Amino acid sequence: MQKVRKVVIAGGGTAGWITAAALSRMLGPLLDITLVESDDIGTVGVGEATIPTHRTFHHLLGIDEREFMRATKATFKLGIAFENWGGIGDTYIHSFGQVGKSSWMGEFYNIWLAAREKGIGEDLDAYCFELQAAKHNKFYTDEKFNINYAYHLDASLYAKFLRAFSEEKGVKRVEGLIGGVEQDGETGFITALKLKSGDRIEGDFFVDCTGFRGLLIEQTLKSGFEDWAHWLPTDSALAVQTRSVGPALPYTRSIAHQSGWQWRIPLQHRVGNGLVFCSQYMQPDAAEEILRNNIEGELLGEPRLIRYKTGRRRKVWNKNCVALGLSSGFLEPLESTSIHLIQIGASRLVQQFPFDGVSEAIANHYNEQSLRELERIRDFIILHYKVTERDDSAFWRDRRDMDVPDSLAQRLDVFRENGLAYQATDDLFRVDSWLQVMMGQRMRPKGYHHMGHMITEDQMRRALGGLSSGIANTVAKMPTHQDFIERYCAIEAEA
Ligand code: FAD
Repeated sequence: MQKVRKVVIAGGGTAGWITAAALSRMLGPLLDITLVESDDIGTVGVGEATIPTHRTFHHLLGIDEREFMRATKATFKLGIAFENWGGIGDTYIHSFGQVGKSSWMGEFYNIWLAAREKGIGEDLDAYCFELQAAKHNKFYTDEKFNINYAYHLDASLYAKFLRAFSEEKGVKRVEGLIGGVEQDGETGFITALKLKSGDRIEGDFFVDCTGFRGLLIEQTLKSGFEDWAHWLPTDSALAVQTRSVGPALPYTRSIAHQSGWQWRIPLQHRVGNGLVFCSQYMQPDAAEEILRNNIEGELLGEPRLIRYKTGRRRKVWNKNCVALGLSSGFLEPLESTSIHLIQIGASRLVQQFPFDGVSEAIANHYNEQSLRELERIRDFIILHYKVTERDDSAFWRDRRDMDVPDSLAQRLDVFRENGLAYQATDDLFRVDSWLQVMMGQRMRPKGYHHMGHMITEDQMRRALGGLSSGIANTVAKMPTHQDFIERYCAIEAEA
C-alpha cells in the first residue's frame, strides 16, 4: 500500500477550509497539505447557521471565541423558532436546551404530562432555560455559567478566517481552475489534479470539497447517489442578504410558507435570508415574490437561485478520495446540520487517517459511520414535515400523508402510543430536540410513564413552580443578546 503524506484538498468553500484547518492543526507536521480553489467559480455563499458541536470543533482546534466572532461578524444562537409549521399561526422554539430535569427512569415531560392532567404547571417551554432566554432575546456566557449555544456566522468571512488559520499552519493554497483529474490506470486511484493553467498538483490522498459538482467523488470516481427527494422534495433556494433593522435575535427563524419555508439568520452586520421551496409545487418567480414580501431591511443584492438534490453519495470515501461538504450529499438546511457534518467528517478523517496506505476496510468503516449518522439527521428533518397539521396546500398535505423511513415511523409510533421519546444510537439530536419538535408541532402521546403519579399534587406544584420561576429569574437578570455581543466582542479589541 502506498504511504500517504501529500494531501490535496480540491475546493475552498466552508468544507475545504474546515478540512484544511482540521488536518493542519491536528496532523500538520506529518502531512504536506495543498488546497486548490477557483476565484472564477466561487463558493455557494450560504450556510451561516450552526449547532453547538461547532464550539466543540473550535475547542479542538484551539480557536479563540472572541477572535472568531469578531472576524466572522457572528452572533449567538440558542435554537430555531419554527413559525407556521404545526399549523398556520403556530410558533415554537427548538432550543439547544434541556427540557426540565430528567432522571434515569424517564424524561421530565412525563411528570409534566401528569401535572397538566391535574391542571398544574405552565407550558412545557417554561421549563427550558435556553428556550426562555431565546424567547426574551437574552444571552450570557462565561466559564461558570452553563448555557448551550451555537453561532450564526458570515460564511465568506468564516472561510477567510479558516484560510488564515490553515496557512499559518503550513497549508499551501493554489488559485486555479481544475480542468482534469488523473488516475492510476490499474487501481483507479487519483494521482493528480490538472489545472487549466497547465500545472499539475500531485497527491497521495484527495479530499473533494468542490461543492455540488463533486468533481472527484462523482465526475471522476462515479461513486453514485442515493436520492432522498421522495422524503425531502425541496430542490431550490433563493438567497439574499439584507441590512439589519434592529437588534440581532439569538435564534434562527424558520417560517413555513405555502410550498416551502424561509430562513432568517441574524448576524452582527446583516441578516441572511432565503426561501427553500419545491419546484414541483412552486416556480422561482412565485417564490421570489414570497421572499421579497417577507423580508425586512434594504436588500444587499438580488436574490440568487440555488438548485440542489437531496440525498447522499453512496460512497463518501472511495479509493483515495473522501468527499466533505456539498460534494458528499445534501440535506436541506432546516436544522443547520451541514457544517456540523463537515466538521465531524473532517475529525473522523483525522482519527482514521490512512498514513500507511488506503484499504477498502477503512473506507467501508468510514462510509458506514457516515451513513448511520446521516440517516438519523435525515429522519429528524423529515419529522418536521411529517407531523404538520397543515392542510392549506398540496405541498403540506403531501408531506403529512407521505410514507417515512421505517426508523422514523417506529419512533413516531412509540411516542404516539406510549409517550416514549428517545435518543437512539448515532443520533446527533438529543431526546430534548425530538421532544421539542414533536410537542411543538402538536403531537400529544396517548400514554406516558407514570413516574409523575408517585408524588403528591402539592409536591408537583412546588417542583414545577420552583423550576420555572428559577429559570424566569435567571433570564430576567441576563443582558440582551445585542448588548452582550457588543460588550463581548469589544473586550479583546481594546486589550
Ligand atoms: P462550496 O461553497 O460550493 O465550495 C466549493 C469550492 O470548490 C469553491 O471554493 C470552488 O471554487 C471550488 N471548486 C469547484 N469546482 C472547482 C474547479 N473546477 N476548480 C477549482 N475549484 C473548484 N449549512 C449549515 O450548516 N447551516 C446552514 O444554515 C446552511 N444553509 C444552507 C442553505 C442553502 C440554501 C444551501 C444550499 C446550503 C446550506 N448549508 C447550510 C450547507 C452549507 O452551505 C455547505 O455545507 C457549506 O457551505 C459547504 O459548502 P462546500 O464548501 O461543500 O461547497
